[in-house]
Amino acid sequence: MSEDVTRDIFVTGLKNAHAMENQALSIMKPQIKRIENYPDIAAKLEQHITETEGQIVRLEEILTSLAEDHSSLKDLALSFTGSMAALGHSVAGDEILKNSMANFAFENFEIAAYKSLITIAELGGFSSVVGSLQMNLDQEIAMANWLESNLRPTTIKFANLKEAGQTAKV
Ligand code: MG
Ligand code: FE
Repeated sequence: MSEDVTRDIFVTGLKNAHAMENQALSIMKPQIKRIENYPDIAAKLEQHITETEGQIVRLEEILTSLAEDHSSLKDLALSFTGSMAALGHSVAGDEILKNSMANFAFENFEIAAYKSLITIAELGGFSSVVGSLQMNLDQEIAMANWLESNLRPTTIKFANLKEAGQTAKV
């Protein structure tokens, strides 16, 4: 496969991943401020925000190593997240459930993005940066696993709180 083609696909993918990670921050940060009744979720989001900041640094380091300037990245929002991860106030008071689903969906999108990036890195001979991408991927998998295992307890807790009349609390 032509070196120019794989490099082009790889650089575009890295820039898209950079935008994706900034979008991840903008999805997670407002949630923490609103959570009152689910401290374990707030703590996990806090941890993953720190991880995400590290992921962004790794992506920037890879772009720099490819002599790609990342300072002017526009980080256009991913179009799909606007509708899917419709986060925020919820009339039904089930914001925590919707966010739990959207967070899980977003982590799986990130997993797919890194798996694709790693494939291109391997095809294009960028093997020196596969380790960095794998670190990001491993963090997304760990977060997705946590979110998945947390869906049931969160749903049960939500139902219990609702029964106790605390419908307005996230
Ligand atoms: Mg991420
Ligand atoms: Fe993530």
